[in-house]
Amino acid sequence: MESVDLHINGIKKSFAGKEVLKGIEVTIKDGEFVTLLGPSGCGKTTLLRIIGGFAKADEGRVFLGNEDISKKSPDKRDINTVFQNYALFPHLNVYKNVAFGLKSKKVPKDEIDRRVQAMLELVNITDLASEMPSTLSGGQKQRVALARALVNEPDILLLDEPLSALDANLRKKLQVELREIQKKTDTTFIMVTHDQDEAIAVSDRILVMYKGKLVQDGTPEDVYEHPVNRFVATFMGECNILECEKVSDTCVKAAFGNLVVEKIPAWMADAGGKCCGGVAIRMEDIHVCTPGEHFENNVFHAKILERIFRGDYWELHADFGPLTLRVMTDPDQIYNPGDEVELYMEPQYLQVLSD
Ligand code: ATP
Repeated sequence: MESVDLHINGIKKSFAGKEVLKGIEVTIKDGEFVTLLGPSGCGKTTLLRIIGGFAKADEGRVFLGNEDISKKSPDKRDINTVFQNYALFPHLNVYKNVAFGLKSKKVPKDEIDRRVQAMLELVNITDLASEMPSTLSGGQKQRVALARALVNEPDILLLDEPLSALDANLRKKLQVELREIQKKTDTTFIMVTHDQDEAIAVSDRILVMYKGKLVQDGTPEDVYEHPVNRFVATFMGECNILECEKVSDTCVKAAFGNLVVEKIPAWMADAGGKCCGGVAIRMEDIHVCTPGEHFENNVFHAKILERIFRGDYWELHADFGPLTLRVMTDPDQIYNPGDEVELYMEPQYLQVLSD
């Protein structure tokens, strides 16, 4: 099959005078699993609906390969959608739900049968073929919805919070399966979610959205380890934020001492040496030094104020004098309130934030 990238060029959209998409510009490569991640109201569903043809942009265009599809209706695009509420046909059994699209395209009966059986197998519901939707669990309905969308062999599958109605364990299981199905079918998946763990688990690439803008575009590792601003840093998980000023090209000054960082971004020169959004460090990137360990920089004396059991780790609250930071330790590293410790912060994980 010919390779088709999706180009989203300068998309703007307003509702009742309020701009909810402020010029989205991005290319999604053929065969990628991309998530649109962001808090409620940031515009991710509106963008997905514009890609699918269910809403019209006020400005900008959508290209699939070289073709401008901006004005095409949803059924004329090689794009299928899996909705949050499954939207199965209640009067058709599982097999007929999955076969529906092929039947309306007048695909020969034996080919329909072959493709439907292959899809039921792919999403692991062969034994449910004759069941009616009303007898299925949420997870099973979602599998039927996936099979029904994928059987048409679309270039792109759009998924609008497909797992949000499921309980936590099933959700994690289906995240893994979703990723496997995407790789096996080699279809571009674009999924909306507000759950950063889910985005990290399934995506090749995460597009982080905030207030109608695309604020970061990167691999899950990139976005988690190297957030560009304070919003992304805190949205992607627990994070300490330090107010700092630039000292040199490899050093910033925090309230408790100087910190060596791997990279001072170029924009800091224009910002008068201020780390505008602060410097972020995740709790797992601050280590309690064990006796005999020696690091040249970034070691600070602190006093443990509190210890909280989090199941698979301890969360320590460490008093650095002017401020308290949260630190993660292994379950077998026991520190008590009142203990004095040396803490090391790895330069590569100290991230200067733009705003
Ligand atoms: P959520 O996760 O809550 O669905 P979202 O990031 O997907 O949030 P959108 O659904 O795209 O956000 O909505 C973005 C903004 O646009 C919101 O303020 C919403 O109220 C508004 N909006 C979306 N659709 C419409 C509509 N049809 N008419 C009026 N306002 C709308």
